[in-house]
Amino acid sequence: MVLRHGNVQNYEENGLDFDSDVKLDTDQEHTDVDDQENQLTPISQRRVGLMEKHELANQKYCVSHENSSSAVKQNQETCLVIETPVIQSRVHDPVPNHQLTVGQQFLDVHSCRRALRDAAIANHFELKTIKSDKTRFVAKCASEGCPWRIHAAKLPDVPSFTIRTLPNEHNCVGITHLGHQQASVQWIADTIERSLKENPHYKPKEILEEIHQAHGIALSYKQAWRAKERIMAAVHDSFVEEFHLLPWYCHQIGRTNPGSVAVVYGNPVDRSFERLFVSFKASIYGFLNACCPLIALDEMVLKGKYHGTLLLATGFDGEGAVFPFAFAVVDDESNGEWMWFLSELHNLLEANIVNMPKLTILSDRQKSIIDGIEVHFPSAFHGLCVHHLIVDFSKEFDNTILANLLWEAAFALTAIEFEQKITLIEELSEDAARWIRRIDPHLWASAYFEGKRLGHLTADIVQSLGTMILEASGLPIIQMMENIRRQLMMWFNERSETSSQWTGILVPPAERQVSVAIEHAHTHQVLKVDDAEFKVISAEGSHIVNICSRHCSCCRWQLCGLPCAHAAAALLSCRQNVSRFAESCFTVANYRKAYSQTIHPIPDKALWRELSVGLDNAGYNSAELVIKPPKSLWPPAAKPGKKATVYRSFGPHETGCALQPLPSDWTF
Ligand SMILES: [Zn+2]
Ligand SMILES: [Zn+2]
Repeated sequence: MVLRHGNVQNYEENGLDFDSDVKLDTDQEHTDVDDQENQLTPISQRRVGLMEKHELANQKYCVSHENSSSAVKQNQETCLVIETPVIQSRVHDPVPNHQLTVGQQFLDVHSCRRALRDAAIANHFELKTIKSDKTRFVAKCASEGCPWRIHAAKLPDVPSFTIRTLPNEHNCVGITHLGHQQASVQWIADTIERSLKENPHYKPKEILEEIHQAHGIALSYKQAWRAKERIMAAVHDSFVEEFHLLPWYCHQIGRTNPGSVAVVYGNPVDRSFERLFVSFKASIYGFLNACCPLIALDEMVLKGKYHGTLLLATGFDGEGAVFPFAFAVVDDESNGEWMWFLSELHNLLEANIVNMPKLTILSDRQKSIIDGIEVHFPSAFHGLCVHHLIVDFSKEFDNTILANLLWEAAFALTAIEFEQKITLIEELSEDAARWIRRIDPHLWASAYFEGKRLGHLTADIVQSLGTMILEASGLPIIQMMENIRRQLMMWFNERSETSSQWTGILVPPAERQVSVAIEHAHTHQVLKVDDAEFKVISAEGSHIVNICSRHCSCCRWQLCGLPCAHAAAALLSCRQNVSRFAESCFTVANYRKAYSQTIHPIPDKALWRELSVGLDNAGYNSAELVIKPPKSLWPPAAKPGKKATVYRSFGPHETGCALQPLPSDWTF
């Protein structure tokens, strides 16, 4: 024990501190020493000796996790039968990316040390420092008698280091225990950083497994736990820092994407973050000029260190894909978030279009959304998301047949068909039918709904956005918004490129539907009533079609936006191109228009201050630029000041500059 402790000290005294990039307090230095002890202690030396023989013979070995000797049964001199669970499996193959060669250069001493550390771990040997100072270091393989050495030195006048000599190959068998001297807490932290950022709930036990699987190193629980703590502390710092940076981020959005809206609001009393609203000009343009006037609203609780909520508004493109165009992050403690979001949304649309279209808005049944729509979009048709409705319904009536009938009722095109479905539900459960009848069908059933949903009955945006939004939701606020922005940028590029290949009038799925309608239309008989009206007779019955009002008595045309078979028959009878009678949002021209504008990248945050030069001479109030993290991220001892007024917004306008003056002494 003492000897091992001494070994670690030796590393540090010699300056070959593999954690030297991280400032540790005294306690942490001690805990790192403890770490080294922990990683060396679990497996007895005697068993290591046995395994060594085995390794020599087979180039790999396995060891039981249990310390009990009954787990290891020796069978003849060189053969070990190991019982499960197996925790160790090492192959003494060098990893190509971690090869060290003479002349190899490193940016500075830190990257040189990191490379050596990683090479030692990847190639399963340990390093022992011989000499280490500002201009050179010499290390050897820690295996007794192994001639492998490395000599690295600083290049003159630059901080770069280079490998000078690597005279001998290893003749050792590599390390003969389950830990690794260079597998420090910082190394573990570097290794698992990504996994942990993607999933902050990653457990130390999972860290142990990941490290073991990838590197064959058995860590102690304590080491894994410390590594997690170290990363979480850094993550916490970024969560806090990014709230401070929000005013500058908003400014950059306006600067790089003119006409976009990016507004951040702080609490007027303690300056803590309350709300952020972001909408990119390219998306606003696409929604207002090329999508149908249908908005779906959804929300998602954030997963990261900060438990706020992400609110989203999306349209749909001609292929039915979600077209997100407005995002907000709200603090859990702020009230009336939907009322505020809908007000921002209203202002955004109004500022970008002369005549507000007659909108249809889909959402769940939250009262705050219903109230917000009534206040800010009084003339819009509000539809309930049928998926949310069925989830609520299934909580009361856990029956798949009933749930399916409810879906069918929602999709039924006529009142008669709708009533038939409800009657079927009633036959199975009167309570279920009563539950459904309490909700006005004008809010959800296709047969009664008065707005234009074009086949979209749900508002599950979060689900449609899938992993993109899930991954983003665990990140600090600006990284999250940037992930979303990058994804939008990619979609815009990909989709505009894909659509450039299309040659039809309608987007492919709509084109296919129209083809099917035309196929059926050939079996229908058409009787002309006048220039607009036709009676279409099919095997199922007859329907009245009006090609001027784009209406068929089967209701499909007006509800789905694409001509039904009856409409197709009527249109073909007067030599019209059926595709030209689809809603404009299904056309290739509109699809291209939806993705025609560019979402521009935001420069690195290191440049934000420099890029904001000129704004600081305009006499802006510095307090308005201060956004503190939400209270959930404040350290327990923090006492919020009460004097400063904290409120900040960068409004929508063509130049994207802040509307309010900036201070001359602002900092971030
Ligand atoms: Zn060696
Ligand atoms: Zn029809």
